[in-house]
Amino acid sequence: MTNLTRESLAARDAADPLRRKRDEFDVPEGVIYLDGNSLGALPRAVPARIKHVIEQEWGEGLIRSWNRAKWMELPGRIGAKIAPLVGARADEVIACDSTSVNLYKVITAALRLNPGRRVILSEHANFPTDLYIAQGAMGLIDKGHELKLVEGAEIADAIDDRTALVMLTHIDFKSGRIHDMRAITAKAHEKGALVIWDLAHSAGALQVELDACNADFAIGCGYKYLNGGPGAPAFVFIRKDLQEKVQPALSGWIGHKRPFDFITQYEPGPGMHRMLVGTPPILAMSALDTALDVWRDVDMKVLRAKSLDMGTVFSRLLVERCAGMNMVNITPPDDAIRGSQVSVSHPESYAIMQELVARGVIGDFRAPDCMRFGFTPLYLRFTDLWDAVEILRDIVATGAWDKPAYKVRAAIT
Ligand SMILES: *Cc1c(COP(=O)(O)O)cnc(C)c1O
Repeated sequence: MTNLTRESLAARDAADPLRRKRDEFDVPEGVIYLDGNSLGALPRAVPARIKHVIEQEWGEGLIRSWNRAKWMELPGRIGAKIAPLVGARADEVIACDSTSVNLYKVITAALRLNPGRRVILSEHANFPTDLYIAQGAMGLIDKGHELKLVEGAEIADAIDDRTALVMLTHIDFKSGRIHDMRAITAKAHEKGALVIWDLAHSAGALQVELDACNADFAIGCGYKYLNGGPGAPAFVFIRKDLQEKVQPALSGWIGHKRPFDFITQYEPGPGMHRMLVGTPPILAMSALDTALDVWRDVDMKVLRAKSLDMGTVFSRLLVERCAGMNMVNITPPDDAIRGSQVSVSHPESYAIMQELVARGVIGDFRAPDCMRFGFTPLYLRFTDLWDAVEILRDIVATGAWDKPAYKVRAAIT
């Protein structure tokens, strides 16, 4: 195999079936954005929608807009737009609250559905909020639940007849490794356990097959690959046949069967509506609603192929251009189990990432020593990958990362 060149990558860009999607995003000039897995770029149609919602729907319509602008339908309408991306039916997904809050809802729901069992099984490497929320829920329930953590590869074998719930993040936020949703869900069901899948790094990164895998519960994030904006509403999935069995722990009035009857007794609303708690944030919902329109004509097979290609190209560039620089690619090399990112460990990762960002190459740092580069096929070009790796190479070769300012860590990495 001959080494990659910038020209060969420019040819890939020219032949890329997704190349026009970039025009639907506002990617700043001079920035190579490899962090769309953490905060997606701004879809160009969003500012006009927000302006309309603020000036017309809110400013002019005032409270009348709850009916006239159908504000209360947004959570369900957005859920229906997310559903095809995660392999669910339109009435199995609803948008609301944050990923963390939605986790609380589904953990408590699942534990109630499996009352005879006490073990929540997850992995050490799971995203911290998932583990923290489980700890908080267990503390409140106070029935002797145990959070059992094993290594990712040992999950399937660790599911037994004490397991109430298996709670996993489908694509690992640090390494990008993908869990086998179908096999783990099947194993859990065989042993009488329920499963929650966290799709934070999956929704919009690849086609997820919740229904085909017979998944029970899932939650995911609106501001990563779905480009809904900072702190965008998240989403919840509950398989159709489980919905009516779910007793919400966060039993707010918007999830009530008849919120405007103002009665004293809580009764859960129909289907996914019971996952709603309080008044939806209409500005944020509107941004996410418009952001999701970019997916209308996207073939997820084409998207996944480009995403994997980008991972392969980036990994090859690290080998070809950055040999001997002490960078270790910790991403699974196998396409079948790799998400839409490449993660590299290096002892000076924090400082190197600061210098990369200073030069317009935006990725992120994950403790203790990981540089993370995310690939968003809708607005990234192959030549961006070349340019990013050339800048990375220069920073490490010249020691430009070694600056006093980079010895102090910012609050948010
Ligand atoms: C990003 C992410 C979250 C985010 O949770 P928030 O409530 O939005 O802060 C949760 N879980 C995983 C796996 C994530 O990657």
